[in-house]
Amino acid sequence: MKNIILFGPPGSGKGTQAEKLAERFNLLHISTGDMFRYEIKHDTPLGKKAKSYMDKGELVPDEVTIEMLRERVKKATGVDGIIFDGFPRNKAQAEALDELMHDLESPISGLILLDVSEDEIVKRILKRGESSGRADDRDESIIRNRIEVFRKQTAPVFSYYDKKGLAVKVNGLGGIDEIAGRLASAVEKL
Ligand code: AMP
Repeated sequence: MKNIILFGPPGSGKGTQAEKLAERFNLLHISTGDMFRYEIKHDTPLGKKAKSYMDKGELVPDEVTIEMLRERVKKATGVDGIIFDGFPRNKAQAEALDELMHDLESPISGLILLDVSEDEIVKRILKRGESSGRADDRDESIIRNRIEVFRKQTAPVFSYYDKKGLAVKVNGLGGIDEIAGRLASAVEKL
Protein backbone atom coordinates (compact mmCIF):
# COMPACT_ATOMS: atom_id res chain seq x y z
CA MET A 1 0.00 0.00 0.00
CA LYS A 2 1.15 3.52 -0.77
CA ASN A 3 -0.15 6.12 1.62
CA ILE A 4 1.00 9.56 0.58
CA ILE A 5 0.55 12.99 2.12
CA LEU A 6 0.51 15.67 -0.55
CA PHE A 7 1.63 18.71 1.38
CA GLY A 8 1.93 22.40 0.61
CA PRO A 9 0.53 25.87 1.24
CA PRO A 10 -2.97 26.81 0.10
CA GLY A 11 -2.94 27.31 -3.66
CA SER A 12 0.09 25.12 -4.26
CA GLY A 13 -1.94 22.82 -6.51
CA LYS A 14 -2.55 19.93 -4.10
CA GLY A 15 -6.13 19.26 -5.22
CA THR A 16 -5.37 19.16 -8.94
CA GLN A 17 -2.26 17.05 -8.51
CA ALA A 18 -3.76 14.70 -5.91
CA GLU A 19 -6.52 13.84 -8.37
CA LYS A 20 -3.98 12.97 -11.06
CA LEU A 21 -1.88 10.86 -8.70
CA ALA A 22 -4.98 9.07 -7.40
CA GLU A 23 -5.85 8.01 -10.93
CA ARG A 24 -2.35 7.03 -11.91
CA PHE A 25 -1.57 4.94 -8.82
CA ASN A 26 -5.12 3.76 -7.93
CA LEU A 27 -5.21 5.70 -4.69
CA LEU A 28 -8.20 7.02 -2.77
CA HIS A 29 -8.03 10.82 -2.80
CA ILE A 30 -9.10 12.24 0.56
CA SER A 31 -9.39 16.02 0.75
CA THR A 32 -10.65 17.27 4.11
CA GLY A 33 -11.39 20.68 2.51
CA ASP A 34 -13.62 18.99 -0.10
CA MET A 35 -15.32 16.96 2.62
CA PHE A 36 -16.11 20.12 4.58
CA ARG A 37 -17.39 21.88 1.44
CA TYR A 38 -19.69 18.90 0.80
CA GLU A 39 -21.08 19.19 4.35
CA ILE A 40 -21.59 22.95 3.90
CA LYS A 41 -23.39 22.42 0.60
CA HIS A 42 -25.78 19.99 2.29
CA ASP A 43 -26.22 22.31 5.26
CA THR A 44 -25.39 19.65 7.86
CA PRO A 45 -24.50 20.45 11.50
CA LEU A 46 -20.86 19.58 10.71
CA GLY A 47 -21.00 21.88 7.67
CA LYS A 48 -22.36 24.76 9.77
CA LYS A 49 -19.58 24.32 12.30
CA ALA A 50 -16.83 24.03 9.67
CA LYS A 51 -18.08 27.09 7.77
CA SER A 52 -17.61 29.40 10.74
CA TYR A 53 -13.88 28.57 10.72
CA MET A 54 -13.35 28.29 6.97
CA ASP A 55 -14.87 31.72 6.36
CA LYS A 56 -12.09 33.21 8.48
CA GLY A 57 -9.32 31.06 7.03
CA GLU A 58 -8.87 29.29 10.39
CA LEU A 59 -8.48 25.57 10.94
CA VAL A 60 -11.58 23.59 11.85
CA PRO A 61 -11.02 22.10 15.36
CA ASP A 62 -9.03 18.88 15.49
CA GLU A 63 -11.61 16.71 17.22
CA VAL A 64 -14.13 17.31 14.40
CA THR A 65 -11.58 17.00 11.59
CA ILE A 66 -9.77 13.92 12.89
CA GLU A 67 -13.00 12.02 13.52
CA MET A 68 -14.29 12.79 10.02
CA LEU A 69 -10.97 11.69 8.49
CA ARG A 70 -10.85 8.50 10.55
CA GLU A 71 -14.30 7.40 9.37
CA ARG A 72 -13.39 8.05 5.73
CA VAL A 73 -10.09 6.15 5.92
CA LYS A 74 -11.73 3.14 7.53
CA LYS A 75 -14.16 2.88 4.60
CA ALA A 76 -11.37 2.74 1.97
CA THR A 77 -11.61 -0.42 -0.12
CA GLY A 78 -10.36 -1.59 -3.52
CA VAL A 79 -7.48 0.87 -3.71
CA ASP A 80 -3.69 0.55 -3.56
CA GLY A 81 -3.39 3.28 -0.96
CA ILE A 82 -4.57 6.74 0.01
CA ILE A 83 -3.48 10.22 -1.00
CA PHE A 84 -4.13 12.75 1.74
CA ASP A 85 -4.73 16.31 0.54
CA GLY A 86 -5.09 19.05 3.17
CA PHE A 87 -4.53 16.67 6.09
CA PRO A 88 -2.63 16.65 8.44
CA ARG A 89 -2.54 20.40 9.03
CA ASN A 90 -0.85 20.43 12.43
CA LYS A 91 1.23 18.14 14.61
CA ALA A 92 -1.73 16.75 16.56
CA GLN A 93 -3.36 15.68 13.29
CA ALA A 94 -0.09 14.10 12.12
CA GLU A 95 0.15 12.09 15.33
CA ALA A 96 -3.49 11.00 15.06
CA LEU A 97 -2.94 9.96 11.44
CA ASP A 98 0.15 7.93 12.31
CA GLU A 99 -1.72 6.17 15.07
CA LEU A 100 -4.67 5.40 12.82
CA MET A 101 -2.51 4.06 9.98
CA HIS A 102 -0.43 2.05 12.43
CA ASP A 103 -3.61 0.43 13.81
CA LEU A 104 -4.70 -0.37 10.26
CA GLU A 105 -1.23 -1.83 9.56
CA SER A 106 -0.88 0.51 6.60
CA PRO A 107 1.60 3.22 7.61
CA ILE A 108 2.32 6.51 5.85
CA SER A 109 4.82 5.92 3.02
CA GLY A 110 5.91 9.53 2.78
CA LEU A 111 5.07 13.21 2.57
CA ILE A 112 5.65 15.22 -0.60
CA LEU A 113 5.89 19.00 -0.31
CA LEU A 114 4.78 20.97 -3.35
CA ASP A 115 7.18 23.87 -3.13
CA VAL A 116 5.73 27.20 -4.34
CA SER A 117 6.58 30.77 -3.31
CA GLU A 118 4.13 32.94 -1.38
CA ASP A 119 3.70 35.56 -4.13
CA GLU A 120 2.82 32.85 -6.58
CA ILE A 121 0.20 31.23 -4.32
CA VAL A 122 -1.65 34.49 -3.61
CA LYS A 123 -1.83 35.09 -7.37
CA ARG A 124 -3.06 31.55 -8.02
CA ILE A 125 -5.70 31.60 -5.28
CA LEU A 126 -7.15 34.94 -6.42
CA LYS A 127 -7.33 33.56 -9.96
CA ARG A 128 -9.03 30.35 -8.72
CA GLY A 129 -11.47 32.54 -6.76
CA GLU A 130 -12.79 33.99 -10.02
CA SER A 131 -14.28 30.59 -10.91
CA SER A 132 -14.21 28.25 -7.90
CA GLY A 133 -17.11 29.86 -6.05
CA ARG A 134 -15.06 29.60 -2.84
CA ALA A 135 -15.56 32.62 -0.58
CA ASP A 136 -12.19 31.96 1.06
CA ASP A 137 -10.48 32.31 -2.34
CA ARG A 138 -11.82 35.78 -3.08
CA ASP A 139 -10.76 37.92 -0.15
CA GLU A 140 -7.08 38.76 0.05
CA SER A 141 -7.13 39.15 3.86
CA ILE A 142 -8.60 35.65 4.28
CA ILE A 143 -5.98 34.29 1.87
CA ARG A 144 -3.19 35.97 3.86
CA ASN A 145 -4.60 34.48 7.05
CA ARG A 146 -4.64 31.00 5.52
CA ILE A 147 -1.00 31.45 4.59
CA GLU A 148 -0.20 32.62 8.12
CA VAL A 149 -2.00 29.59 9.57
CA PHE A 150 0.01 27.41 7.20
CA ARG A 151 3.27 28.97 8.32
CA LYS A 152 2.57 28.76 12.03
CA GLN A 153 0.54 25.57 12.45
CA THR A 154 0.95 23.46 9.33
CA ALA A 155 4.60 23.92 8.27
CA PRO A 156 5.89 21.98 11.36
CA VAL A 157 4.23 18.86 9.89
CA PHE A 158 7.01 18.84 7.28
CA SER A 159 9.73 18.57 9.94
CA TYR A 160 7.68 15.96 11.79
CA TYR A 161 7.94 13.61 8.77
CA ASP A 162 11.39 14.85 7.77
CA LYS A 163 12.73 13.63 11.12
CA LYS A 164 11.42 10.19 10.28
CA GLY A 165 13.20 10.38 6.90
CA LEU A 166 9.84 10.40 5.12
CA ALA A 167 9.64 13.91 3.62
CA VAL A 168 10.60 15.01 0.10
CA LYS A 169 10.30 18.34 -1.74
CA VAL A 170 9.11 18.75 -5.31
CA ASN A 171 9.28 21.96 -7.32
CA GLY A 172 5.66 23.15 -7.64
CA LEU A 173 6.32 25.73 -10.36
CA GLY A 174 5.62 24.97 -14.01
CA GLY A 175 2.89 23.43 -16.13
CA ILE A 176 0.36 21.05 -14.59
CA ASP A 177 1.65 18.01 -16.51
CA GLU A 178 5.27 18.89 -15.84
CA ILE A 179 4.59 19.03 -12.09
CA ALA A 180 2.51 15.82 -12.31
CA GLY A 181 5.53 14.08 -13.86
CA ARG A 182 7.82 15.21 -11.04
CA LEU A 183 5.30 14.06 -8.44
CA ALA A 184 4.83 10.68 -10.09
CA SER A 185 8.57 9.98 -9.93
CA ALA A 186 8.61 11.04 -6.28
CA VAL A 187 5.71 8.68 -5.53
CA GLU A 188 7.44 5.79 -7.30
CA LYS A 189 10.43 6.21 -5.02
CA LEU A 190 8.40 6.10 -1.78
P1 AMP B 1 -8.46 23.41 1.61
O1 AMP B 1 -9.53 23.05 0.63
O2 AMP B 1 -7.56 22.25 1.94
O3 AMP B 1 -7.70 24.66 1.21
O4 AMP B 1 -9.20 23.78 2.98
C1 AMP B 1 -10.10 24.87 3.07
C2 AMP B 1 -10.40 25.16 4.53
O5 AMP B 1 -10.98 23.99 5.15
C3 AMP B 1 -9.19 25.47 5.41
O6 AMP B 1 -8.82 26.83 5.33
C4 AMP B 1 -9.70 25.07 6.79
O7 AMP B 1 -10.58 26.06 7.30
C5 AMP B 1 -10.54 23.84 6.48
N1 AMP B 1 -9.73 22.60 6.56
C6 AMP B 1 -9.42 21.74 5.54
N2 AMP B 1 -8.67 20.71 5.97
C7 AMP B 1 -8.48 20.92 7.31
C8 AMP B 1 -7.76 20.23 8.32
N3 AMP B 1 -7.05 19.12 8.06
N4 AMP B 1 -7.81 20.74 9.59
C9 AMP B 1 -8.50 21.85 9.87
N5 AMP B 1 -9.17 22.57 8.96
C10 AMP B 1 -9.17 22.12 7.69
